Amino acid sequence: STDAPGTSAPDQLTGRVVLVTGAASGIGRAIALAAAQAGARVVVSDLQPEGEQTAQAIVDAGGEAFFVPCDVADAQAVEHLVAETVNHFGQLDVLVNNAGISGGAQLAHQLGVDAWDRVIAVNLRGPFLCARAALPHLIAARGAIVNIASTYGLIGAPLAAAYCASKGGLINLTRQLAVDYGPQQVRVNAVCPGYIDTDMGGGRARLSPAEQAAAQTRREANAARQPLGRQAQAVEVARVVVFLASGAASFMTGSVVTVDGGCTAT
Ligand code: NAD
Repeated sequence: STDAPGTSAPDQLTGRVVLVTGAASGIGRAIALAAAQAGARVVVSDLQPEGEQTAQAIVDAGGEAFFVPCDVADAQAVEHLVAETVNHFGQLDVLVNNAGISGGAQLAHQLGVDAWDRVIAVNLRGPFLCARAALPHLIAARGAIVNIASTYGLIGAPLAAAYCASKGGLINLTRQLAVDYGPQQVRVNAVCPGYIDTDMGGGRARLSPAEQAAAQTRREANAARQPLGRQAQAVEVARVVVFLASGAASFMTGSVVTVDGGCTAT
């Protein structure tokens, strides 16, 4: 079990099956790769078909992984995702709720209701649907959930009403699930990344030159907000997720762990 104390390699995920949503890019991709490196068999899921490339990278490195496309806001698709996981690997030990969207930058009174609904659907309903489908298997495995929230779930940030609300909701959903499933030895924790260098964090992949310049300005401003003076790489979040998923975190549940270079310490 992921929570057994005294295992010989408590920080490892050998023999565990880990499902990561939103694993085509950014933090989710880094989590999938880090989990595989720690010995896990990994189910890579994403809305985008590029998730296949994450699974292929794991297989190329000698690991076990496969890709299942899924919109986490779609209850039926999520049921299918968990069923595929268990059909293929026979168990599910760890769910990482990573898929998320920013929803764009708007003042609340200018934010479309549809935009609000979509952010809540992906960032809050999605983790609920995934937990709902996964929990029977996680109970059997005495497993764990790691929710990727955000420092924006802890503070109010400009132009991010739906995002802040969704991540704040995810943080308290984390605590709530920890209460209900602790007695069954399922641990549920949240990670709150600060500013991470991904597409969401201002990465370059699909941007025009003008957008790239704006993104660079934003990255520098974000770096200055964090006492460590830089944006993080996705792997720096992934390492903490692997720790929380593993037996090394055997007495941690309901915890909200910031990985933010000190951003929320100021
Ligand atoms: P990203 O945009 O690089 O990756 C997000 C992934 O989620 C993409 O592959 C996307 O296709 C997928 N996705 C989007 N909607 C989906 C849906 N409905 N169903 C399934 N997959 C979906 O972003 P990222 O920076 O890697 O973000 C990952 C998580 O980390 C998000 O929950 C985000 O809110 C959180 N986060 C990011 C930062 C940051 O600075 N980058 C900071 C704090 C929290």
